[in-house]
Amino acid sequence: MKACFLRAPGKVESNPLVFGDVPKPEPASGEILIRVEVCGVCRTDLHVIEGELPSRKFPIVPGHQAVGHVAATGAGAGRLAIGSRVGVAWLHKTDGTCEYCRRGEENLCDNPQFTGYTVNGGYAEYVVAPEDFVYPLPEILVAEQAAPLLCAGIIGYRCLRLSGVSAGARLGLYGFGAAGHVAIQVARYWGVEVYASSRDARHQALARELGAVWTGGILDAPPEKLDAAIVFAPAGEIVPVALAVLKKGGRLILGGIHMSDIPAFPYSLLYEERVIRSVANNTRKDGHEFLRLAAEIPVKTHVQVYPLAEANRALNALKNDAIRGAAVLRATS
Ligand SMILES: [Zn+2]
Ligand SMILES: [Zn+2]
Repeated sequence: MKACFLRAPGKVESNPLVFGDVPKPEPASGEILIRVEVCGVCRTDLHVIEGELPSRKFPIVPGHQAVGHVAATGAGAGRLAIGSRVGVAWLHKTDGTCEYCRRGEENLCDNPQFTGYTVNGGYAEYVVAPEDFVYPLPEILVAEQAAPLLCAGIIGYRCLRLSGVSAGARLGLYGFGAAGHVAIQVARYWGVEVYASSRDARHQALARELGAVWTGGILDAPPEKLDAAIVFAPAGEIVPVALAVLKKGGRLILGGIHMSDIPAFPYSLLYEERVIRSVANNTRKDGHEFLRLAAEIPVKTHVQVYPLAEANRALNALKNDAIRGAAVLRATS
């Protein structure tokens, strides 16, 4: 089968992904084989490819937002019918036995496997995944539209949940890419006022289009104090800036898997019970809840579609903030 794979980490400017033939995977016990239609491109893929996350497996096929159809089932799998539409997300598998899994925090599992990082992912014509970790997706969802929901959407939802916002609250979003443009739609649906900061004027324009009451640069202070803020941009210098605009008791949620160092800041920014919390992965419950909600709203994603063979070009565009919404790779027609 055709796939884009990485032999060793490298800057995306050097086009490190190779498009070529690799063996088609076979579903093991409990797994299903999925014929990939499209796969979303996530900022985490950039961190994997450029080696900002410790390397775990080479060669690796990246990608953890794959939408496709069940093509075959391994022994013991078969709950999902052949031909049904499914999504494969970041959490490939957990051990189910560690203290975190036992208390319902499988996102913090001690022995997790991650799609497109520790096991091959969706930048390919086929991918395998444990059936229990695959999300059924209604046929009504257009594949390109659904792909960014699988990570950007689910992680954004977990960030929103942990931010504690509800109707009437004021929420800041820092960075307005794939996750931000989905999170704002959920927040607006809940009756939350959104203040969006981005270094990119096109992203600010999209935020206004999607209902932000205010947009500005990353370091600009919004006109009101905020109940909570979510940082999607991987830039540590945003943390003190965002803390400074939070109300007493406000929550600052860090949505990225990787962030540059956070500069020192005075304790007064954190005092008065402000909270900083990172988000690590998601539980399957987050995924199922969010996908239901996304269909109910319904969330509309803005996507730029690239052929699978042009994954390097998509990643370069993502790195340069040139994607309006989310980038998606089309593996099959
Ligand atoms: Zn576990
Ligand atoms: Zn992701």
